[in-house]
Amino acid sequence: MSAPVTSPLLVIKDIECRYDGREAVRGLSAHVNAGDIVCLLGPSGCGKTTVLRAVAGFHNLDAGEIRIQGVLVSRAGFTLPPERRSLGMVFQDHALFPHLSVAHNVGFGLRREGRTEKAQIVSEVLELVGLADMAERYPHELSGGQQQRVALARALAPRPDLILMDEPFSSLDVEMRERLSAEVRNILKTRGTTAVLVTHDQHEAFALGDLVGVMHEGRILQWDTPYNLYHEPSCRFVADFIGQGVFLPGTLLAPDTVETEIGVYKGNRAYTWSKGTRIEVLLRPDDIVPDSGSALQAVIVQRAFKGAEILYTLQLPSGGRLLSLFPSHADHRPGERVGIRVQADHLVAFPISS
Ligand code: ADP
Ligand code: MG
Repeated sequence: MSAPVTSPLLVIKDIECRYDGREAVRGLSAHVNAGDIVCLLGPSGCGKTTVLRAVAGFHNLDAGEIRIQGVLVSRAGFTLPPERRSLGMVFQDHALFPHLSVAHNVGFGLRREGRTEKAQIVSEVLELVGLADMAERYPHELSGGQQQRVALARALAPRPDLILMDEPFSSLDVEMRERLSAEVRNILKTRGTTAVLVTHDQHEAFALGDLVGVMHEGRILQWDTPYNLYHEPSCRFVADFIGQGVFLPGTLLAPDTVETEIGVYKGNRAYTWSKGTRIEVLLRPDDIVPDSGSALQAVIVQRAFKGAEILYTLQLPSGGRLLSLFPSHADHRPGERVGIRVQADHLVAFPISS
């Protein structure tokens, strides 16, 4: 049996965007299926906003093409205007109209609907974002999180094919950011809305995205599930950018076996580099576990209490460092020596470039 063929809602193919001749986005491609929430994640300046503006129709392409629902909307020399793309947008600074009530802000984009229908849509989306009783308030009477939910309701009201969000939670505090990203994911999934979010914050990307593209210097380096980005990073940049961890130098003994100063271990993937290749092995804090009976010992140099767990920075006899998550009741002090063991199925290694 073959899988059902779904045509992607958004296709970005080999796009290039320049500012005064300088490339900001180069040869970037992505497919987004209907109903999916995807994130572009990368450090500041890597081109995330430019990609989103190109999808929205605010930035012209220098090469490549963009299709929405199969319709060509952008290529070099042609840009379908934003208002003809059936998009909703949410930005970092929610940009609500200060002199309009919440209800009027949300209904702003509903120009074709009659009064009754408009009122019904407004109350439906306000219900959806949990602000049904705030319809008559004004933006300045709301918290930052509430304002951002109004912005989302406004974007959802015209039932766009696609919602674009540029760092929508970055002006909020960490706790609110976490709560709102989970809420927004539920809201989008309830509606079956397709969304592209850009952010530099991996927690946000992981909390929201079905798929995440890690960007660097105008390109997507890996387009994958959050799980795979963490456990199976495809290159050194992604391994470093996502999650915490350290790289220990070592040698490849067999395609699936490495030797480092903390021993020989075997993982679940096979590398094709020749035996004896000098490599760096990625070790995440959850790969190093406490083992009081272990011959492998390290000295605690730093301790960060995380609640359920404690993150220890450990020093090896060579001076090399490891990070390790211990259960919270294993409470040690800097200077103490502890036994550890590697517990990792995922063997992630990269050749040392000389
Ligand atoms: P991000 O959103 O990932 O921070 P941007 O898409 O805003 O990245 O920017 C990508 C690159 O393009 C950066 O090097 C930035 O300096 C440059 N850039 C962005 N906007 C402009 C502009 N209006 N004029 C010139 N260069 C720009
Ligand atoms: Mg940006």
